Amino acid sequence: MSAVKELIVAAVDRVADELEALSHRIHGHPELAYQEFKAAGWLSDFLAGQGFKVERGVGGVETAFRAMLETGDGPTIAILCEYDALPEIGHACGHNVIATAGVGAGAALAAVRDRLPMGRIHVVGTPAEEGGGGKLRLIRAGMFRGVDAAMMVHGWDRWVPHQDLLGIVRLGLEFRGTAAHAAADPWDGVNAVDAVVQTFNNVGMLRQQIRPDARIHGIITSGGAAPNIIPEFAAATFYVRAARLDYLAELRRRVIACAEGAALATGCGLKVVEPETAYEPMKRNQTLADAFRANMQRLGLPESPEAKDRLGSSDVGNVSQVLPTIQPYVRIAPDGTPWHSRAFEAAAASPLAREGMLAAAKVMAMTTLDLLSDPGLLARAHEEFRAAP
Ligand SMILES: [Zn+2]
Ligand SMILES: [Zn+2]
Repeated sequence: MSAVKELIVAAVDRVADELEALSHRIHGHPELAYQEFKAAGWLSDFLAGQGFKVERGVGGVETAFRAMLETGDGPTIAILCEYDALPEIGHACGHNVIATAGVGAGAALAAVRDRLPMGRIHVVGTPAEEGGGGKLRLIRAGMFRGVDAAMMVHGWDRWVPHQDLLGIVRLGLEFRGTAAHAAADPWDGVNAVDAVVQTFNNVGMLRQQIRPDARIHGIITSGGAAPNIIPEFAAATFYVRAARLDYLAELRRRVIACAEGAALATGCGLKVVEPETAYEPMKRNQTLADAFRANMQRLGLPESPEAKDRLGSSDVGNVSQVLPTIQPYVRIAPDGTPWHSRAFEAAAASPLAREGMLAAAKVMAMTTLDLLSDPGLLARAHEEFRAAP
């Protein structure tokens, strides 16, 4: 291992207790999407203390931040932090670990700043991953313009340098019919619930013809007021997920067609409601993932194979569609612990989480150093990014 990498490892170890305390503090004060005032403040303060120039509330998002370290004109590498929690079950996605691994990597790079090649390091606080799409707002605000590569980690029960993430489109389907007495004058009614049921049947048939890595799942959000009234309004929400942007767009069209067919069959009107926060699939960057992997190996961390059938979604996917980005997985929980469970919430403040968080901070700082030191590596990452679908 190079001398600077040895120094990076030692620098993370020096702040290990402080990082763990910070991780536990965030874990103990779970804050929901866009409400992460405490976490954003603590992380910003920590980075300011390490010598970063910190901007708070960036990109028009109050709980976002950007901490910058500059050693001269060169590439810009972003390290992303998440710190939002879930309703009811707190930090059951372990974002406290993501945040402290990110600022830990920043602290290590700041500690070796005199030996860093010329360039810029941005540690970016990205709120509201759990549904709020904080990274979309930061992308739109131009926070990633001029950034050459981005990385973050996510907790799991194993180390995996790359794992696919599905893009997700959320579709609200609202059907409008005509109310009538369900026994006296049913022929005067137009049944909006029938349109919802028919949509589910159409989607059920569509599901057999879709690719194995795509997912379509829905719930009924409004299903009538009383059985003796032909429902004049009914609604469903569907999530459509796919591993590629073009396929996601195709499936979105086909699910809407299922609803249009149901509306036509029942005589209902249809309104499709789409929130602006569509999460995009993760665009693989093998060059960056391999650089991360090489540093994992330097630290003797065990690697697990990609899990092809365990697929989630995240707004880091949107970042990966605008610049080379990786989100490797880090072991912070015992084998078999599912995300978004009470067991994962407990694991996120355990000694295993400390171990994973510190190792992730080291590997991210080492990989950032590689990207600043080796222009060829960054060029290959960009070449791959341009060539990928
Ligand atoms: Zn989650
Ligand atoms: Zn998460």
